[in-house]
Amino acid sequence: MAKKTRPKYIFVVGGVLSGVGKGVTTASIGAIMKAKGFKTTALKADPYINVDAGTMNPIEHGEVFVTDDKDETDQDMGNYERFLDIDLTSMNYMTTGRVYQTVINNERSMKYKGRCVQVVPHIPEEIIGRIKRAQKHHDADMVIIEIGGTVGEYENILFLEAIRELKMANPDDVAVVLVSYLPVPAHLGEMKTKPTQHASRLLNQAGLQADMIVARGRMELDKPRREKLATFCGVQKENCISAPDVPSIYEIPSRFEDQNVGNKLLKILDMSPRKTDLAPWHAFVKKIHNSTKEVTIAVVGKYFGTGSFTLADSYISVIESVKHAAWFNNVKPILEWVDSEEFEKDPKKLLELKKYDGIIVPGGFGTRGIEGIISAIQFAREKKIPYLGLCYGMQLATIEFARHVLGKKGAHTVEVNDKTPHPIIIVNPFQAKNIAEEKYGGTMRLGAYDCDLIAGTQTRKAYGTAHISERHRHRYEFNNEYREEMDSAGLKVVGVNPESDLVEIVELENHPFFVGTQFHPEFKSRPMRPHPLFREFVKAAKGEK
Ligand code: GLN
Repeated sequence: MAKKTRPKYIFVVGGVLSGVGKGVTTASIGAIMKAKGFKTTALKADPYINVDAGTMNPIEHGEVFVTDDKDETDQDMGNYERFLDIDLTSMNYMTTGRVYQTVINNERSMKYKGRCVQVVPHIPEEIIGRIKRAQKHHDADMVIIEIGGTVGEYENILFLEAIRELKMANPDDVAVVLVSYLPVPAHLGEMKTKPTQHASRLLNQAGLQADMIVARGRMELDKPRREKLATFCGVQKENCISAPDVPSIYEIPSRFEDQNVGNKLLKILDMSPRKTDLAPWHAFVKKIHNSTKEVTIAVVGKYFGTGSFTLADSYISVIESVKHAAWFNNVKPILEWVDSEEFEKDPKKLLELKKYDGIIVPGGFGTRGIEGIISAIQFAREKKIPYLGLCYGMQLATIEFARHVLGKKGAHTVEVNDKTPHPIIIVNPFQAKNIAEEKYGGTMRLGAYDCDLIAGTQTRKAYGTAHISERHRHRYEFNNEYREEMDSAGLKVVGVNPESDLVEIVELENHPFFVGTQFHPEFKSRPMRPHPLFREFVKAAKGEK
């Protein structure tokens, strides 16, 4: 008799450290299940009270990833979209705040019919309800759910309780994967399992038993340590998966499959094994390894005194998009962070930008480092260095052009100077009201908007189509009063939103590549389908235009 196949739920929880790779594990398991022919979706449960990630500082929390349907979510959602090559929705993301908000609203509208509303069962019930609604919405066979944080924290205990209850009701349909860290202390030189044993025990305290352990660390998991994990954590030996650091996260689906992770999970979920078609992933990894000629890209912005680790997290989709585009063009991407405030302190430093093959100004907010960014854009424009401006990077490119080509002294965005004589970037009345009333959460121009492309332009050629849809996250916009003047002087408006007539894309004439987008193309780049604008930007950067 055929075994029941759907839906199945795979939960991914973390132990020992944050940032251990739960997101990539979730995404990779998803990619494997998809490659087995299952309809797969992925969810993130964030333990914060914040209703969404939009109000969290990206320097501390990482990038705010925006979905088509206007949700401001966790950066891990970007990994799911990239690895699974699917579009996710707000149903794929929840926070503690969002869960409580629903329960409280339900209580206010008598949905609990006069009963006492309690943390348990009503909060886990709502969590499970959300998971099931997402499963239905995507008609998924496999739902992979990542629980934010690590086991043993106060914050995510109710999510673990939800797993326990779901598993109790459907014992064969739920698998729990613990992604844990095995440190290698320098003075010992050997991998230690004890922290993971503790994590496993904390999971037990929450009423859960891991079915699989993904052993993250500097080294491979060897035989003695695998045996220790099996004995002390109560996980089958073969279900302790070695997951050492690898040069590229895109190798992980293949590395997992080398250890048969997919079929091991199917077995846990009481299903028959299935073949995995990972051929496209293998070919892609090969392409990465074969791309050895370097292309050097500067990412110019205001950067606080943080290490490159956090910056990489704040701009993860931009970085991944450059990588996808570079590998497509058979080159190896080298990204460098350039602090625009350095140009303000010492303008001679601008000359250092000469060494880069391309310059990106990513999205941003506020006033800090802005003059330095504008100088860098001027440098890219005048020295004909390929330039890609993303959101703020587009707005500031139009300001630079207004100041130095149209001769409009003091041209600015009202975000920085609301008394500027030339407000190139303005705020619409609707947004002005939000700002005045301090309504910041979820009120920006968010998510997917259509854009019509003008024939005969570089951008239109890059996309290969006249109508596109891209994701947004901004409050300010280009002032159409300057459009004609800017256009006839050479910074062409090449993409416009048909409903609002808002400027979405500008492109400079007589330049190898100079494009600014009001939207964030980086949210739609996929490993094997690079975004057309990043693709052409890198192509220009490697000098093939
Ligand atoms: N600060 C600008 C705005 O709000 C740009 C936003 C962004 O780059 N995401 O419009």
